[in-house]
This record gives sequence, structure tokens and C-alpha cells, in this order.
Amino acid sequence: MSLIRHFINGREVADAERTGPVFNPATGVQQHEVAFASVGEVEQAIAAASAALPGWRATGLIRRADVFFKLRHLLVERQGELAAILTSEHGKVLSDAAGEISRGIENVEFAAGLVHLLKGEHSEQVARGVDVHSLKQPVGVVGAITPFNFPVMVPLWMVASAIACGNTVVLKPSEKDPSAAIFLAKLFQEAGLPDGVLNVVHGDKVAVDTILDSPEVRAVSFVGSTPIAKSIYERASANGKRVQALGGAKNHMVVMPDADLEGAADAAVSAAYGSAGERCMAVSVLVAVGDVADDLVEAVRSRMRALKIGDGTDAASEMGPLITREHRDKVASYVTGAAAEGATVVVDGTTQQFDGDGFFVGVSLVDHVKPGMKVYDDEIFGPVLSVVRVESYEEAVALINANSFANGTAIFTRDGGTARQFEFDIEVGMVGVNVPIPVPIGAYSFGGWKNSLFGDSHIYGPESVHFYTRSKVVTTRWPNPSESQINLGFPSNH
Ligand code: NAD
Repeated sequence: MSLIRHFINGREVADAERTGPVFNPATGVQQHEVAFASVGEVEQAIAAASAALPGWRATGLIRRADVFFKLRHLLVERQGELAAILTSEHGKVLSDAAGEISRGIENVEFAAGLVHLLKGEHSEQVARGVDVHSLKQPVGVVGAITPFNFPVMVPLWMVASAIACGNTVVLKPSEKDPSAAIFLAKLFQEAGLPDGVLNVVHGDKVAVDTILDSPEVRAVSFVGSTPIAKSIYERASANGKRVQALGGAKNHMVVMPDADLEGAADAAVSAAYGSAGERCMAVSVLVAVGDVADDLVEAVRSRMRALKIGDGTDAASEMGPLITREHRDKVASYVTGAAAEGATVVVDGTTQQFDGDGFFVGVSLVDHVKPGMKVYDDEIFGPVLSVVRVESYEEAVALINANSFANGTAIFTRDGGTARQFEFDIEVGMVGVNVPIPVPIGAYSFGGWKNSLFGDSHIYGPESVHFYTRSKVVTTRWPNPSESQINLGFPSNH
């Protein structure tokens, strides 16, 4: 069985005293071991990043951009190979894996054009003979900690901007599907990135805590579940670092009585069951307003029967397995528990049989769900769609605004005024109007509110430039020596 090693200072290394299993979720068979980094190995990675920092920081912006132009070319050229790696360790179907990579490429494109956003400001003559200009300088070594569900895109959300801004990085990807991060690091190297600028360490809390506690790491970007995001935010900020920690989600899709019902049902099925519901922007709650509920539930139910669930490498499959056996069983427990909580299980996917030992579960639809039920309150992160019935638009907004998660939401309506009011009223970071998964393009930034993001910067796009740089403001005067004089007063520009 092959060992997946760390990538430190341009080389694959591992003492591999501790390791973890990497499965193929479609077969349930372990296919690799992944090395779990010791404190010493993470410190080596941080030292490599620190050593590479002065050289990379001094590298011209146009030379930095060259790396990203080459990287984009390589990612496009090898998209199929990378998608196959994703599918074999994550389980998502190949077309979905290719979609993830193409969204990650948007972050590389953004980084290639970063010279524009790294411009400072200049004010001439703020006082007689005095000018002021501002600079954006890198923060230093950045720690990047990523979840299992987007093993290419989420690392690229972080490392593309961080590196383009002149920082160096230690990336700790998910131990469940770690190969894609190593593939990416090698591609960066092939694109001309100097050794030590991007390092990858695998592992668990030991690796993460070493990053969070290192005085050399100046900023931490995290994406994962809410409890871990909160603890990362608290520990890293207590250590004086900048932190952005993106957490979990419970995304509501509101369907107004005037919506195109067929279109809304298509969107709900796609966004709830795509990638087996393991997307932080998956729709997990359908909010049926007024008398739309019965028809909507029936429209969704009728579409579910046709979904093809199977090995992600099979071109006919639309949905693959879940990430682990334990996660599959936990997801199933929400469906089996829902009836006892008073909800109506319309479609029970947990009873669907699959050949082999893969971590598959069927798709489920649960109606008459209410806050206070576990199926509503918890992030399930699987192919389970709940339906909450409400009387009015106001009740729909109140429901969503009372939820502790606030990553994404959507409204389906034909009424522009209702859509505009929703955009105004809703306390959620990303909003879709007749768009069920409103993940912003790479030129905007991504982030939720409340328990879906700890910190004040959204990730990738323009806000990442703010997060990965420090401002410096320089006030300049070139006096004639004859004008020199002593003045103990506070300098005034008037
Ligand atoms: P997770 O929180 O279990 O793990 C995320 C990362 O943290 C991994 O690298 C993991 O090794 C590490 N980690 C786990 N436990 C830790 C601990 N006790 N101390 C330190 N580090 C620890 O998340 P996951 O299961 O890999 O990913 C799914 C979660 O990520 C879902 O909740 C999903 O909503 C969320 N997610 C959020 C976004 C977003 O943008 N808001 C995007 C993708 C995924």
C-alpha cells in the first residue's frame, strides 16, 4: 500500500511514525496510508516557509504572475488526471470533480491578475512638499487548513491569493483525501514556484495545533465544521494571528407561491443531492411558502426516483458515496430519527441497497420538519432534504434569520420586488435569486455570517488581498536643507 507523504521545501518526506487510512469510498477498500506529521515535521515545514519568505517577497509581481499563468495551463491540461484522484479518494462523480477543479482555476486566474489589486494609493501634496503613499505587504507565513469536501478548490481558495500576495504557506489538507494537495504542490513547482513557498503537511490535531501555536505563522485560513472553526479561531487569535475560520452550514431555499415550480424542483434536487449533499453550499432545507408545499414535495419526490447513485468513475452515476462508513451511518441516523421527532419521511434513502462495501446511501426527503428537531437543527452533510412549511414570506425570513448558520440561501420567485426585499432582509452571507448554490465567482469573495464564519474577512477574491497583506503608510518630504528648523509642536498639515 502506498504512503502519501508531506511536501516540504520541494521534496516529499515522511518519517511516518503515525499514519491514517485513505479509502476509496466507492468500494470501501483502503487504498493508501497517509503520514501524520509530528510536531518536528510541521516545524520543518514552517521553517522552510520562513526561509523561502524573503526571496519570494522580493520576487517581482510580474514574475509571480507568471507562475499562476503556467499553473492555470497545467491545471487545465491535467484536469482529467486530477479529477480521477479526487473521485478515488472523495467519491464525488468525475464530472463534479472536474467542476470543482474549474472553480479552483478561477482562483488561479484571480491570482494571475493580482498586480492590479496590490496597487497602493498615493496622495500628492497633503501639506506643502509632503506626499503620502500606502503599500500592501505580505503578512508572512500563512497556515491553511482545509476540509475533505473540496480537496482542490478550497486549498486553491487560500494558497492562490496568499502566494500571489507574496506570502509563503504551510497547507494541512484533510487526512481523508490528501493526494490532491500533493498533486497541486507538484504542479505549483512545475509552474516555477520556488521550493519552500508552498509546503504540505498531512495529519490531525497535532499538525494543526503546531501551526496555530507557532510564532512564525502570522495568519491562519481555515475551512471546516463549525465547532473546529470556532476552536481554531479562538486558539490562533489568542496567539496573536489573523484568522478567518469558515464553518458549517444549513442552507435554506425559499420557494414562493409564484415560483416556476418545475424549475424550483429541478434546482432543489440538484443542490440537495449533488456531491451527496457534502457541499457547504448544498441546499438542505426547502422552505415552502403558502400553498406551494404539496405540489413542490411531489415534484421533488418524483425526480428523486430517477437519480443514479453509483461509483463516481461510472459516467452514468450522478451521485457517489459518502466520505466514510461512519459518516454514512450518522447521516442515515437523522433520517431514521426524523419520524420519531414528528416529521414525515417521504422518501427514505437509508433502505436502498447497494452492491459491495462502498459508503453509499440513497437520497432522502423529509417533510413537516420544524426547528427543534435534530434533522433541522444539525448540519447533516449528506443527501437529506428537509421541507419546512410556512404561511408567508415574513415567516420564511424569520425562520432563516433565527438559524445559527448563515452560509448561503436562495429564493425562487418570479417577483423582482420580493427578491429584492429578500436580499435586503436576509441575514446570510451569500444569496441566490433563482440560483440554488450561489457560490460567488473568483472575482468576488466567499463567506457566510454568524456560525458559518469566525473572523471578519471572507475568503478568496478581493477580501483575500486584504487578509493576506498588511498596509503600510509612508509620509515623505524632501526638504531643502535651508528650510530645516526645530519645532516641538505636533506636526499639522494646515
Ligand atoms: P472538519 O472540521 O472535521 O475538518 C477540517 C480540517 O480540520 C481538516 O483538515 C481536519 O484534519 C482538521 N481537524 C479536524 N478536527 C480537528 C481538531 N480537533 N483540531 C484541529 N484540527 C482538526 O471538517 P470536514 O469534515 O473535513 O469538512 C466538512 C465540514 O466543512 C462541513 O461542516 C462543511 O460545511 C464545512 N465546509 C465549510 C465550507 C465553507 O466555506 N463555509 C466549505 C467547505 C466545507
